[in-house]
Amino acid sequence: MATDWNLSPAPESTSHANIAKQYELFINGEFQKPISGKYFDTINPADETLLSSIAEAGDDDVDKAMKAAKAAHKSWSKISGKERGKYIYRIARMIQEKSREFAVIESLDGGKPIGESRDIDVPLAAAHFFYYAGWADKLDYAFPMRKPKSLGVAAQIIPWNFPLLMAAWKIAPALACGNTVVLKPAETTPLTALKLAEVIQEAGLPKGVVNIITGDGRTGAAMTAHPIPNKLAFTGSTPVGKSIYKAALEGNKKVTLELGGKAANIIFDDAPIEAAVEGIINGIYFNQGHVCCAGSRLFVQESVYEEVLAKLKKRIGNLIVGDPMDKNTDIGAINSKEQLHTINRYIEIGREEGAEIYQPECDLPTKGNWCRPTLFTNVAQSNRIAQEEIFGPVLAIQTFRTIDEVIDKANNTSYGLSAGVWTDKGSKIFQLTKALKAGVVWANTYNKFDPTSPFGGYKESGFGREGGMHGLEAYLKFTV
Ligand code: NAP
Ligand code: MG
Repeated sequence: MATDWNLSPAPESTSHANIAKQYELFINGEFQKPISGKYFDTINPADETLLSSIAEAGDDDVDKAMKAAKAAHKSWSKISGKERGKYIYRIARMIQEKSREFAVIESLDGGKPIGESRDIDVPLAAAHFFYYAGWADKLDYAFPMRKPKSLGVAAQIIPWNFPLLMAAWKIAPALACGNTVVLKPAETTPLTALKLAEVIQEAGLPKGVVNIITGDGRTGAAMTAHPIPNKLAFTGSTPVGKSIYKAALEGNKKVTLELGGKAANIIFDDAPIEAAVEGIINGIYFNQGHVCCAGSRLFVQESVYEEVLAKLKKRIGNLIVGDPMDKNTDIGAINSKEQLHTINRYIEIGREEGAEIYQPECDLPTKGNWCRPTLFTNVAQSNRIAQEEIFGPVLAIQTFRTIDEVIDKANNTSYGLSAGVWTDKGSKIFQLTKALKAGVVWANTYNKFDPTSPFGGYKESGFGREGGMHGLEAYLKFTV
């Protein structure tokens, strides 16, 4: 993934990480012990060591956080957009100042390579706060005919693959629009959201404007079932997304869902092949393939298939799998034992379905959760590995002859989040961007993100957009 937002200095060692032994719930501007009295562990998936003990929010804790957010909304929604923007800007600055620490903690807690946390996750998170700080005093200009108003309290639930970045995607636009927030990070990666809570406290945000509570799916379910939130914002799997949609219907709440994907990357015979191969590698192996928009299906035009396959095999043989804290690592640790089990099960399924597997030889660490970069050839369109989201470093390769054939194949999944097209011909790019049912289509690049660009899906990939001006609409109602 590429970004122009890298403003952080390089983290040099794990000594930059200031991780407490125990974390409480961040409610009403203070770190509070959970009424539930319960705690759970977060571990480092690369060596299975305990990082910290984390408070588990029960129903009473969720209720407390929602009430704090509701009370805070009264004044937060009334202060000027300019004032709100200043607070959001301060958060952005403080993320930048603490970028080394954020990057190290993100890699320790989640297993992603430090080079990615440092160059992508953390700078992009800061960039999102900067971007939405700028919108806070311009809402009337953005929607001149419609009189924008905040919704109230947003309950926000995020996954474990980009913990800080997803928190930024959720919190920054919500605050800019005058909402208050209760956010829950995923159970396996709570630490950077809790660091963000420290930043928010230090930035002096009014009490209760942002509440960060930790727990597992039960905490998330209690948040969505609670009567207070006016808005549910969810990023995660399609099955959980559907349960959240039901909760939103029952509670008459506004909802946005950013769900799974099974993106097609398409290489035509006129493509710049070297660049395309790099793009395919980045598309599927970035962040261990734990990416909703991962280019997990590859379609290669028949005449260049052998060439592309040979280059891909050579390239994945050079990928370094191992210690996330080593700046040379390409593929870090799989986020959890459960996810490793899911990926390994799909690898078995691929074999059972008759696809041909290729994995390069490489030494894997003895402790922790690891998966070699994997590719499957001889894949049929109906195979489960070509249809279902694996969320790991596993690529399913198919071939095609004509543009119409590849459009049909690429669109033939239940998902519609993203796609990539590699060709020298602008006309093909225009044709495909129209024909592919995907929220984002990258041309001759992949995984490019920017806070100014909207992101979101069709079909089982969810609905609503985050990022850009579109991301504001998700947190506003209009009175005319
Ligand atoms: P997940 O299992 O759906 O969990 C997402 C979040 O929901 C976690 O915080 C989880 O808590 C919580 N949760 C679980 N059950 C819940 C329930 N019944 N009610 C309310 N909340 C509940 O997804 P994941 O495994 O963390 O993330 C991977 C998925 O996210 C993939 O499908 C990926 O494609 C998708 N994703 C989409 C985007 C996008 O922008 N479209 C971006 C990133 C990821 P615990 O984890 O603590 O149990
Ligand atoms: Mg962890």
